[in-house]
Amino acid sequence: MTYDVVVVGLGGMGSAAAAHLAARGQRVLGLERFGPAHDRGSSHGGSRIIRQSYFEDPAYVPLLLRAYELWDELGADQIVRTGGLYLGRPDTPTVAGSLRASQQWSLPHEVFDAAEIRRRFPTLAPDDDEVGVFEEAAGFVRPERAVAAHLERAARAGAELRFEEPALSWTASGSGVVVTTALGTYEAGHLVLCPGAWAPRLLAELGLPLTVERQVQYWFQPVGGVGPYERHPIFIREDGDGAQVYGFPAMDGPDGGVKTAFFRRGAVADPDALDRSVSAAEVEDMAAHAGRLLPTLPGRFLRAVPCMYTVTPDHHFVIAPHPEHTAVTVACGFSGHGFKFAPVVGEILADLAVEGTTKHPIGLFDPRRPALR
Ligand SMILES: Cc1cc2nc3c(=O)[nH]c(=O)nc-3n(C[C@H](O)[C@H](O)[C@H](O)COP(=O)(O)OP(=O)(O)OC[C@H]3O[C@@H](n4cnc5c(N)ncnc54)[C@H](O)[C@@H]3O)c2cc1C
Repeated sequence: MTYDVVVVGLGGMGSAAAAHLAARGQRVLGLERFGPAHDRGSSHGGSRIIRQSYFEDPAYVPLLLRAYELWDELGADQIVRTGGLYLGRPDTPTVAGSLRASQQWSLPHEVFDAAEIRRRFPTLAPDDDEVGVFEEAAGFVRPERAVAAHLERAARAGAELRFEEPALSWTASGSGVVVTTALGTYEAGHLVLCPGAWAPRLLAELGLPLTVERQVQYWFQPVGGVGPYERHPIFIREDGDGAQVYGFPAMDGPDGGVKTAFFRRGAVADPDALDRSVSAAEVEDMAAHAGRLLPTLPGRFLRAVPCMYTVTPDHHFVIAPHPEHTAVTVACGFSGHGFKFAPVVGEILADLAVEGTTKHPIGLFDPRRPALR
């Protein structure tokens, strides 16, 4: 059988692409190395921050606004809106960048000084010279649930999804693509590649400067229990030394603890040999940093789970038609902040595969941009 589109990689982005393509009536084959919504890549750990006042670059805001619409279409409870607080000294990229994005796009927000933060959020103990940008629209999504929902949508719309079947190689010609696995050879008009941390391998010929990093998620049981963390905003705090610590409300009951992590403080990793053990020194480092902002948080260490970022030098994504093959579209290099965009990335990938173009602003994600040379 010949397909319209083969999607390789059914993680955060590929599952969304398969759902959007199938919804448009495309005959879709999805190929995934592991099982559905697995924990071997970048889309696991129970929660992902979603926010709009985007300190990384205001250019992401229109995509975020569309992502919010699509998340709500996927399911009324996909986004849990908790509010979000971005803290640090006023001149840090986290604070100044959030403010810039919210002002440029007129996003509702408030700015609190340290005393106001302590008053509103008794768990938080910022330094006196810190401020916080608060945005009500922020919250979290659940990655495993979101991937499962997109896979279910894709399957219901007729997509054929094959798990435990990695793509071994692909070739493209003017008329289409051929993808080979251990079980077969598949022909299609178009190929969408969403291989996450395996992008350096599957897209080696593009020579993209991608770095795969191991990034750990930690759960702690706060001193006195999770009570004060149950109705809590997501938070991102930039330290004096540029380290960003972020965290979530308690979402898994009295014994589930609270999840916290560093944004971008990883070591280079091999996706096929990821070190899944977490050392006592790593736990201590996390506890020390988190404890500076939330004195009760690092009460008792519960568990830690590594995950992978696939990072570009400028931390912007790669989403584009393959520069050399019109029948191939690529999506990778999400640099540790991609999940919140998954549904809109799915829509963009479907646009590119079916129409060859998209109305969404994706100029920032061009693989030929100077920062990637
Ligand atoms: C610890 C951590 C915290 C994060 N926090 C946030 C956050 O708060 N907010 C946010 O927006 N983002 C966050 N991110 C980033 C976000 O999760 C990622 O950007 C996103 O999950 C990337 O999705 P992906 O589809 O590219 O990768 P994945 O979901 O890993 O999907 C890639 C898939 O391709 C499959 N694959 C690879 N090679 C092949 C092959 N040859 N054949 C078949 N299948 C193949 C893999 O098995 C995998 O399933 C975080 C990431 C981590 C690790």
